Amino acid sequence: MPELELHSDVQYMKGVGPRRAAVLSKVGIDTVGDLLGYLPRRYIDRSMIVPIGTLKANMDVTVIGRVLGKGILMGRRKRLEIILGDDTGHIALIWFAGYRYLEKMFTKGDVYAVTGQVTYFQQHQIVHPEAEKLEDDIDQLIHTGRIVPVYPSTGELKKAGITGRVMRQLISRALDNLSGKLNEYLPEKYRSDYSLMRLPDAIRQIHYPDSMEARESARIRLAFDELMELQYLILNSRRKSRSVGRGHTYKKPGSTLKEFTKSLPFKLTEGQRDCVQTITGDMCNEKPMHRLLQGDVGCGKTVVAILAAVYAAENGHQTAFMAPTEILAEQHYAVWQKPLEDAGMNSALITGSLKKGERRAIETGIADGTIKIVFGTHAVISKSVTFDNLGLVVIDEQHRFGVMQRGRLIKKGLYPDTLVMSATPIPRTLAMTLYGDLDISSIKTMPPGRQPTRTVWRAASSRPDVYKFLKEKLKKNDQIFIIYPLVEKSEKLDLQAAEDEYKKLKKEVFKEFSVGLLHGRTKKETRNKTIAAFRAGKLGVLVATTVIEVGIDIPSATIMVIEHAERFGLSQLHQLRGRVGRGRRPGMVIAMAVPPVSALAKERLEMFAATPDGFRIAEADLKLRGPGEFFGTRQHGLPELKVANLAEDVNLLPITRKVVASLLADDKALDRDDRNLLSYLRRRSESRRDLGRFG
Ligand code: ADP
Ligand code: MG
Repeated sequence: MPELELHSDVQYMKGVGPRRAAVLSKVGIDTVGDLLGYLPRRYIDRSMIVPIGTLKANMDVTVIGRVLGKGILMGRRKRLEIILGDDTGHIALIWFAGYRYLEKMFTKGDVYAVTGQVTYFQQHQIVHPEAEKLEDDIDQLIHTGRIVPVYPSTGELKKAGITGRVMRQLISRALDNLSGKLNEYLPEKYRSDYSLMRLPDAIRQIHYPDSMEARESARIRLAFDELMELQYLILNSRRKSRSVGRGHTYKKPGSTLKEFTKSLPFKLTEGQRDCVQTITGDMCNEKPMHRLLQGDVGCGKTVVAILAAVYAAENGHQTAFMAPTEILAEQHYAVWQKPLEDAGMNSALITGSLKKGERRAIETGIADGTIKIVFGTHAVISKSVTFDNLGLVVIDEQHRFGVMQRGRLIKKGLYPDTLVMSATPIPRTLAMTLYGDLDISSIKTMPPGRQPTRTVWRAASSRPDVYKFLKEKLKKNDQIFIIYPLVEKSEKLDLQAAEDEYKKLKKEVFKEFSVGLLHGRTKKETRNKTIAAFRAGKLGVLVATTVIEVGIDIPSATIMVIEHAERFGLSQLHQLRGRVGRGRRPGMVIAMAVPPVSALAKERLEMFAATPDGFRIAEADLKLRGPGEFFGTRQHGLPELKVANLAEDVNLLPITRKVVASLLADDKALDRDDRNLLSYLRRRSESRRDLGRFG
């Protein structure tokens, strides 16, 4: 048997062979080194385990016991009950759902580790616990006092005989053979500066930790490496895109921009003025701009982007202004077409619902340069649109767009300036990572006269009172949004629900008032009419789905009711709330929660009601949901992170960025250690299938 090396094919390990190797390859394990990167999903720690006899209600616990009995009980709600016991007592595990399948899984005599919250109802019980069947070896290992890893498994792994126990054996063997051979590429100076564990120790400790603290130190070291690789990818691509010179010339901001700014119905806020200055500065530069403009909902980002477009036009360049929804694109066009035309700039709106002839005419105008500013959704970048001289790309509400689309546009206009706007303010270091190579400007001030929006949440049972309140408001000419959730998964049902509710509200509840309906399927003409009527104050109530969530700007609307608020995420609630309180009168949001409301949803609603500040909302949302779901990591084109967590490890972002930036600084002579690290990062970025692999 040849000695195991990091790069040895895993099939030559004892107990593997070609068939199992094929299955291992599907979970990313091709080499023996890859085994070291296959990380535990969780651990079982004897010291955390509570004797069953000592359990009390409300404790969050893990217990280990043997299945003593099981049965499906009828009663008020049908349920599966498993009795689990150890030497000190027994407890009931209860499932109300999936019991038929679960019942077959549990066999009398099997040993389980079970985690959950203890409640008391005639007996101590845990409802819907997380249960893990223990194999003999775990049982033995925990009895020797070790913290034992539990690896992620798949049906296929199990079928190929790679049980949890076999996986543990393979990984243990890889550790014994290889941890001495791992190359520590992170120079001592960084390890001591940032108190990081050595790589071989970190890898051993992440699999078989001496303590949960040691496990966390190991995780931090590995997260550091992972983020360092991520920073390398980002900074390296930034360096490449920054090295492009366009040979274009922009004059200093001239009379068109000044006149246009003067003609606005309001004075720019200080934040807006600063941003315009930074942006025009960027646009003058030879190198293409990549800037993120962030600021809370309602702070007035649109006008900043419009001014950038005017500046581009002043210098003979066209702008593509992309919004995530047709409704928003239509609104931008409706608001800005006239003022732009008055200042001598033609603009156009491209959406999916244009007739062929109309579309062709617009495309001709874009191709010959007579149209300076093109509003639209992603239709703006469809193949048939060719720009005469694209200079600026504006992407509104970036969190709704993919990075891909940006890439496509950038290819089209060669190297236009890019201005990305987002109302989801996030910690700067995180933004720098998520948005990769973007510079960041923030608008921190709100336009004058804004009043804070009052937010409350109510249980559905108080709906009669809410309606009464709304009717009084309508009599005083207030305007009201009533929002229904729309989720892709249940889109048809949700639309139906919104339409049914609309009919009921129109015919019964608000019959003395005028009520309109708006959703994504509403035909364009009807949609425009409805929005125009609401904007003009002719409609008192607008029943809408979340299509109005982003960007819609109707300053006269002051009240919003959010139905099924328990189904919305925090940031989404905040975006919705941003639709009211945009004028001089204070806004009010009533979030209606329909039971059952989970503890988590309740926490979200409390947080929403108590927190007016978008920055804090975004932070909290990030923590509650994790960055993957919050941003759609893939949408940002980020590689998947295995160890690091962008929310928890946010403090590692600036550090890793600093290390990598210093490695990439052109003027710096690197010592040998740094050169080693740099070439390691380069190799990894070229060959990586996924981050988080070792060797
Ligand atoms: P967001 O940043 O959410 O995209 P908008 O650009 O839609 O915000 O602006 C919100 C509202 O504030 C709009 O009605 C806009 O006309 C108004 N607004 C923008 N800037 C100012 C300002 N400096 N003074 C007064 N109102 C402003
Ligand atoms: Mg906006």
